Amino acid sequence: MANPRLEIDLGKIASNVRILSKFYKSKGIDICVVTKVVCANLEIAKTLVESGVTLLADSKIVNLKKMSEGRINAQFLLIGTPKLSEASEIVKYATISLNSEMEVIRRLSHFALKMKKVHQVILMVELGDLREGILPEDIEKIVKQILLLKGVKLVGLGTNLACFGGIKPTEEKMNKLGHIAEVIEKKFDLKLKFISGGNSANYEWFSTTTDVGRINQLRIGESIFLGCEPIHRKPILKLSSTAFTFLGELTEIKVKPSMPYGQKGENAFGHYPVFKDQGMMERGIAGFGLQDVAVSGLTPHLKIDVLGEGSDHTLFNLKGNNLKVGDELKFNLNYEALLSAMTSPYVHKTYNFTK
Ligand SMILES: *Cc1c(COP(=O)(O)O)cnc(C)c1O
Repeated sequence: MANPRLEIDLGKIASNVRILSKFYKSKGIDICVVTKVVCANLEIAKTLVESGVTLLADSKIVNLKKMSEGRINAQFLLIGTPKLSEASEIVKYATISLNSEMEVIRRLSHFALKMKKVHQVILMVELGDLREGILPEDIEKIVKQILLLKGVKLVGLGTNLACFGGIKPTEEKMNKLGHIAEVIEKKFDLKLKFISGGNSANYEWFSTTTDVGRINQLRIGESIFLGCEPIHRKPILKLSSTAFTFLGELTEIKVKPSMPYGQKGENAFGHYPVFKDQGMMERGIAGFGLQDVAVSGLTPHLKIDVLGEGSDHTLFNLKGNNLKVGDELKFNLNYEALLSAMTSPYVHKTYNFTK
């Protein structure tokens, strides 16, 4: 079969999303599934919807457009900071977006009025991770301005932690968000439908808290696709961590020295590699590289070592294992490897369904 290849087990994804939805629902939280790491793959999106997901989120408007045109029967949320230059597409393809700039919200309002739509706005609140978000002391001012606009409706507050600054979503942070929501509701006499507390990294907070307070939504990607939470990268619940398998084909196997020989200079990527002499070694080359996947994020199923990679070759110490040219090596993927393999047009995607 064509390779490099990413085998996608839709059955495992379906099972993961069912288990996680039920888990978060047990304390009143709905999840929306973030499809960015799988590039809004339509087979996967279909599987998610068939498993009961009603809200799908992505950070690229082209991905929301693809799902919308691919007749994925869900509502779409644009995450990340929306681009002023894409306001028209955002109104067209997203029901809701996460916002932190008044200028963008004004532009959304403009296009929503033109298209006779009401675009829903969740305001992002900065709580310490220092990526997107309005400083808490500025929220009231912004809310006041939004309420004067037609074509947009303020439907919630959200925050995003554990992304840029590695700041954990703790009880204190979640209570702070809930408190801000209550102040806003009271002051402006309105009801916020969504209090969107974060991402897969909220797992630990959710598992240990006795009261989720006002938080009623999480935006989850990684834990559904990789079965782990992103703070300790530990497997969670009974989730499968093998919904995705990367495969590459051995194109050369030879016993060669472990030390390169000749005059040394920089390698193809401008590095000056250092090697340890381990004598002769059974070396294998597989026909994939950085153009296909973030090789450092792959873990081989067999007990073999990855020696290094270039654009389209990856080198291994095969350590016996009786491998021959043409054999396929299999790997598990971390978040970065999954993101890159899904994004690369050179990686073939195949689907199966384990019940
Ligand atoms: C990527 C992202 C998520 C999902 O994060 P996971 O760790 O994959 O669960 C949620 N919210 C925002 C704003 C994001 O950018």
